[in-house]
Amino acid sequence: MKYSNFMEVSFKALSVNEGFARVCVASFCVQLNPTVDEITDIKTAVSEAVTNCVVHAYPSSNKGDVVLRCELEDDLVTITVSDRGIGIKDIIKAREPFYTSKPSAERSGMGFTVMESFMDDVQVTSNSFGTSVKMIKRICTNSNAEVG
Ligand code: ATP
Ligand code: MG
Repeated sequence: MKYSNFMEVSFKALSVNEGFARVCVASFCVQLNPTVDEITDIKTAVSEAVTNCVVHAYPSSNKGDVVLRCELEDDLVTITVSDRGIGIKDIIKAREPFYTSKPSAERSGMGFTVMESFMDDVQVTSNSFGTSVKMIKRICTNSNAEVG
């Protein structure tokens, strides 16, 4: 491994923080010299994962926190979005296209599908203490990246 870096931030699970999370990850990933398309993909996936924490993880009005971690290893970006909410009982079902536990709340059930299509790999772990979504993407065009 030639290049290694990471950042981690935490914030309250409020929709007002979705934009912060997107910009935060995008500006951190710029050091790998990604294309605009690659950055757009990453921002979209982060937005879906953070939105899930905001909408699903903390059903009571007492919102908990979201931890957003981004690791860079050479040309590989690994983003982890974690909450300490209610968890997902059936992860396989939750990841099916169009499955949503909130059909009445104008949810389309496409969040995980979007994450999967914009990132190279998406891993979900969950239990009754919370959920963690790890998303990996290889940046293909970083030959000119300044490192160090
Ligand atoms: P959309 O993302 O299209 O608005 P959605 O959020 O319901 O709709 P997904 O993002 O694919 O769809 O998530 C599917 C289901 O997984 C959710 O309806 C919810 O039941 C569950 N889920 C996802 N993330 C979490 C989380 N962080 N905590 C608890 N449940 C979650
Ligand atoms: Mg969603």
